[in-house]
Amino acid sequence: MTTEEVWQTALAQIQLTVSPANFSTWFKNTEVFSIEDGQAVIRVPNSFVKEWLENKYNKVVFKALRDLDDRIRDVSYVIGQSNNAKAPKKELAVQRSAQPELEGLKVDKETNLNPRYTFKNFVVGPFNELPHAAAFAVTVNPGSAYNPLFIYGGVGLGKTHLLQAIGNEVLVNFPGKIIKYIPSERFTTEVVSAIKNRTMDILKNKYRRVDVLIIDDIQFLAGKEKTQEEFFHVFNSLYERNCQVVISSDRPPKAIPALTERLRSRFEGGMIADVSCPDFETRMAILKTKAQEKNISLPDEALSYIATNIQRNIRELEGALNRLIAHQNLNNRSIDFETTREVLKKLLFSPAKATTPQKIIQTVAGFYDLKEKDLLVSSRKKEVVRPRQVAMFLLREDLKGSYPFIGRKFGGKDHTTVIHSCNKIRRELEDSENLKGEIELIRQLIFSA
Ligand code: ADP
Ligand code: MG
Repeated sequence: MTTEEVWQTALAQIQLTVSPANFSTWFKNTEVFSIEDGQAVIRVPNSFVKEWLENKYNKVVFKALRDLDDRIRDVSYVIGQSNNAKAPKKELAVQRSAQPELEGLKVDKETNLNPRYTFKNFVVGPFNELPHAAAFAVTVNPGSAYNPLFIYGGVGLGKTHLLQAIGNEVLVNFPGKIIKYIPSERFTTEVVSAIKNRTMDILKNKYRRVDVLIIDDIQFLAGKEKTQEEFFHVFNSLYERNCQVVISSDRPPKAIPALTERLRSRFEGGMIADVSCPDFETRMAILKTKAQEKNISLPDEALSYIATNIQRNIRELEGALNRLIAHQNLNNRSIDFETTREVLKKLLFSPAKATTPQKIIQTVAGFYDLKEKDLLVSSRKKEVVRPRQVAMFLLREDLKGSYPFIGRKFGGKDHTTVIHSCNKIRRELEDSENLKGEIELIRQLIFSA
């Protein structure tokens, strides 16, 4: 057998042991590079595949090769261009090298600020001019410009980005100030556990020392009377000291049911600004900024295809780009207009209808080499916990399942567990390009099969 034949035979064997989706994801574009002195070297299209083969499939690969030639003692993987791939390799190398930089940006444990959200990379257009101006004014004069500043608008329109940018900018302008960013769900969790552990005084002190308090997604406080009560006390004590409070919500204060009247009127006493949907020009500008950040180059007609089809959500604009990047990485081929249309078709034309909870659970299980029932039963094993969180996250994001509904799907888990899981993945997604890549791949598997 030639080395080429050895690898083809090994692949045929491997195909029998891994799922078809995984086979095509991880093995499709591999080649044998050399087999010499007991060392087999397999060529893979990119570092992402390399990592997966090394960490997850090495045993399978090794066994398949060794069964054919028992002189083989070791397998390694090199990144290289496949002989029949068309893309210039340089682009891929550039694209990957951008990632360690992003990986380096970590959320600060004290402030909860993520340095990646700045004013510099925030695109301003008619749809967000007012909240942007108000936010910026706050960073020049925290505590006296607009207090509280209340920013509201739909999902994925840049509220969190803007809130975080305020924190990061104040940090630069006033290094001595204590800044705290907190999602309101986490505030609720803290209040609940302080009540349980009788540590409310500690909690109150912690917040009373803060100079700029940023609370994201305040709508989650709705209906939680005790938490609102505590928040009100914290809020008042900060306000009396001229400290800055910044709040975001998916709707204006008067539209949040079950918000206590005292809180509502406090919010309405400050500045209220809304983010609406970006116009076409701004969507193009945002896409260009993000494409540059991610080092992917796309023809203008591809960008305008995305901007035409995704109108109401900036996060989805970014999601479309990420999907194209995953596609480029896997196929080692630069993206043209036709590919853009092909890849995004499934994403654009209502993913909610194109899949089911079963399909998501099945795909996630397959992707991580687990059985479906492993995901569904209670187990705290690390290999299972993460995939389960990913599955819950996808049910939430792509199927818009309610938290209790998702809990029921996973063997009757409490909805707070589901919320916790989804938030965990969301937070990690901000930091980890690897997790982002995994989730994009899973989505490709879900929506392309
Ligand atoms: P929200 O909190 O309103 O749901 P996010 O702030 O999380 O939305 O924004 C979603 C994504 O879109 C983030 O990655 C963010 O960086 C990006 N984004 C939103 N608005 C802008 C903008 N004006 N310029 C650049 N990126 C933006
Ligand atoms: Mg947000």
